[in-house]
Amino acid sequence: MNRVLIIGAGGVGRVVAFKCAQHRDVFNEIVFASRTKTKCDAIVKDIYARGLPTPIQTAAVDADKVPELAALIKDVKPNLVIHVALPYQDLSIMDACLETGVHYLDTANYEHPDTARFCYAPQWAYHERFEKAGLLALLGSGFDPGMTNVYTAYAKKHHFERMDTVDIIDCNAGDHGYPFATNFNPEINIREVSAKGRYYENGQWHETEPLSVKKVFDFPDGIGPKEMYLLYHEEMESLTKHFPEVKRMRFWMTFGQSYLTHLKVLENVGMTRIDPVMYEGREIVPLQFLKTLLPDPASLGARTKGKTCIGCRVNGINKQSQAATYYVYNTCVHEECYTETGAQAISYTTGVPAALGAKMILSGQWSGRGVFNMEQFDPDPFMSEIGGWGLPWVETFPKNAEF
Ligand code: NDP
Repeated sequence: MNRVLIIGAGGVGRVVAFKCAQHRDVFNEIVFASRTKTKCDAIVKDIYARGLPTPIQTAAVDADKVPELAALIKDVKPNLVIHVALPYQDLSIMDACLETGVHYLDTANYEHPDTARFCYAPQWAYHERFEKAGLLALLGSGFDPGMTNVYTAYAKKHHFERMDTVDIIDCNAGDHGYPFATNFNPEINIREVSAKGRYYENGQWHETEPLSVKKVFDFPDGIGPKEMYLLYHEEMESLTKHFPEVKRMRFWMTFGQSYLTHLKVLENVGMTRIDPVMYEGREIVPLQFLKTLLPDPASLGARTKGKTCIGCRVNGINKQSQAATYYVYNTCVHEECYTETGAQAISYTTGVPAALGAKMILSGQWSGRGVFNMEQFDPDPFMSEIGGWGLPWVETFPKNAEF
């Protein structure tokens, strides 16, 4: 009998709850908790309205508080906590899992509210404690990180003797009709995009000014050519560690001109700052204030039209000892995600790998003691099931190695 505790009722939490509800053979009992219980209740109502099996229990929890979390976990007695609240809660939820003896899964590396670091060190430091406790913590089981880590492991296992370059390419060609909105939590999204770019080459990290390096890529499935920008993204840290043969690794993301213009203005006037400023006698953090003004990403589903396309492009020496290029990707349609779960494709592409990652742990297909990233496990069971869970993938062998 598997019982899961899902924490965080945002866009991603909605999709995870839907996917767990669709797979009751795996997730026999589901408890859905968040800071605001009414958000869980509203999602559960939608799940019931689609005729999926009941019941799903809901609860309120402040996941910043370890004693509160531990009390809930002791009460629920789950086999696994699926954490899809915010990266600020990673360590408190890991602490509570250790205290109560429960496996852990998340979709984003730990962030301190006061500094944007995008680094796994604070969570990797928990490895020995999870190992000693006989527990598994699976980090970054979303799309990027997550699916992109599995794609890279799959490329290595099935196609490459040696991988020389890996480019992770993330395109959101969807349109929500707002001049400026973020597709997932605005604070996390803007911190990520406004940070300096970074890529890995010949054993070293190279820094670039934010959004200063761009390229045009011709995306498949009718999306066509789009400008994409070099960013730092957390999965490069674990992938370069676990595949040290890779000489160069980069991450690219597309942005529309309206998004970039708004972001530049907001930055120029100080609205993206994450340090506190005094306003009418009290401290406020400009980015947190901005978040209250922007559309809630969870509300974008009904308005967003178009596709996402995220994948990995690898160059290297193939299993036949010849130079080769490989491109593996998923294309997702925002409207279809909304029809199925009430969420847009960014939440969907994150929530589906989170739910399947949870299945890998609960079924024992992925097992281990300690803290792990996705690429450390056998990619095959994940790749063989993810299509059926909603994210089919396509692999091609482009002839033009230049990128
Ligand atoms: P949202 O902001 O939509 O939702 C976050 C949810 O977490 C809200 O329901 C919020 O509740 C809840 N929450 C926040 N703080 C606490 C707390 N202290 N205790 C309990 N609940 C809390 O975010 P998303 O759903 O868009 O993103 C969820 C996670 O997924 C984030 O970590 C994000 O970085 C990650 N992500 C990963 C991606 C990947 O591909 N790997 C891509 C996109 C997102 P309330 O509303 O009550 O405050």
